[in-house]
Amino acid sequence: MEDKLNLAERDKKHLWHPLTQHKIAGDALGITKAKGARLYDENGKEYIDGISSWYTCVYGHCNDFITDRVAMQMKNLDQVVFSGFTHLPAVELSEALIKILPEGQQKMFFNDNGSTATEIGIKMALQYHHNLGNDRKVMLAFEEGFHGDTFGAMSVSGLSVYNGAFQDHFIAVKRIPVPKGENNAEVLELLKQLIKENNIAGFIYEPLVQGAAAMKIHDADGLNQILKVCKENDIVCVADEVMTGFGKTGKYFASDYIEIKPDIVCMSKALTAGLLPMGLTSCTQKIYNAFYSEDIAKGLFHGHTYSANPLACAAALAGVELLVSPEMQNNIKRIENLHQIFAAKIKEHPKVTNIRHLGIIFAFDLDVEMERYGNVRNQLFEYFMENGVYLRPLGNTIYITAPYITSDKEMQKIYDTIEGVFDRF
Ligand SMILES: *Cc1c(COP(=O)(O)O)cnc(C)c1O
Repeated sequence: MEDKLNLAERDKKHLWHPLTQHKIAGDALGITKAKGARLYDENGKEYIDGISSWYTCVYGHCNDFITDRVAMQMKNLDQVVFSGFTHLPAVELSEALIKILPEGQQKMFFNDNGSTATEIGIKMALQYHHNLGNDRKVMLAFEEGFHGDTFGAMSVSGLSVYNGAFQDHFIAVKRIPVPKGENNAEVLELLKQLIKENNIAGFIYEPLVQGAAAMKIHDADGLNQILKVCKENDIVCVADEVMTGFGKTGKYFASDYIEIKPDIVCMSKALTAGLLPMGLTSCTQKIYNAFYSEDIAKGLFHGHTYSANPLACAAALAGVELLVSPEMQNNIKRIENLHQIFAAKIKEHPKVTNIRHLGIIFAFDLDVEMERYGNVRNQLFEYFMENGVYLRPLGNTIYITAPYITSDKEMQKIYDTIEGVFDRF
């Protein structure tokens, strides 16, 4: 039986987990099965996956439509080098994505995770100017952004425990605060100052929602004005849609809310519906043209072994087909409505502040004296897990990004469980 696996004990012997300080972290929980919106642990206890396993499996875990398609692909072509070869899953995926990507995107470059998707976006921006003979080596980013764990991606992320140890090795970066409406004029002033004093090549940003910064939502008009100034100065605009992409904000991409479109879009996470690791960096014809040359050195010499893995492409293609279906679009609207009702219900509660939501993303801050209760984040996490809901609070921020197919009843259970913490602090 599954409860004899004893995964937690065996895990401790050889495994080193991501984003974990093992000396103070508890044991890892053994998960043996996932289906729809649910995870099952090795003791048979079930949890609603309230964060779609880090915003990946948005159409539900082990979705038969997707797993069948990948299984079929698996029997035909598993892996082949993508330099010099091409294949149907990659071609079909590019054709399907071009229909839903923000206007102007034209070429797609494959990689295998979100960090390398942004890393490639940064390299495209820097080499674009290098190829044009411009002396521009500085990237611009938001202060609290998160773009991944490789060196370029770390450099343009806000400083934190994630990247502090590597600060001396960063690429050159200047940071601006996010536009919040009331500070828009100030941010634009600072931006113009920075552009004057630095040779800025590109601007990387999480459009509208900053996930790792605790689901902070910024001002669309302010972002639009920033992008406008960047475009006027030929600063390459790199939209990191790794978290926001594929329907989470209620539109296919968060950039769809913004008038000024990006030059480059970084994708991963829900791209493959949570089935297989893959990243994708798309760009406009203008960016591509700066690399297109008789001079071999002007090419983008970047390539991961598993680029455009046919299985990952098959998963992504099936995912896009689900995303654009009326049924999935209705699911997204349904969850958006449920969030609205829940927001109205809890907004007057004395423990609730900063409610924000967009599409299927919902977040608020629990107004507690953090010092009085010790590690609030861990207490919240444990309470949610005890009650069969997998949510991963960021500090005192509680957020939901459940799969689109989560039922009304399952959503209600998430909301009820969240309300259950109000009396405990
Ligand atoms: C998760 C994330 C990344 C990094 O993706 P990985 O696949 O974890 O490397 C980059 N940018 C954003 C906005 C993310 O949410």
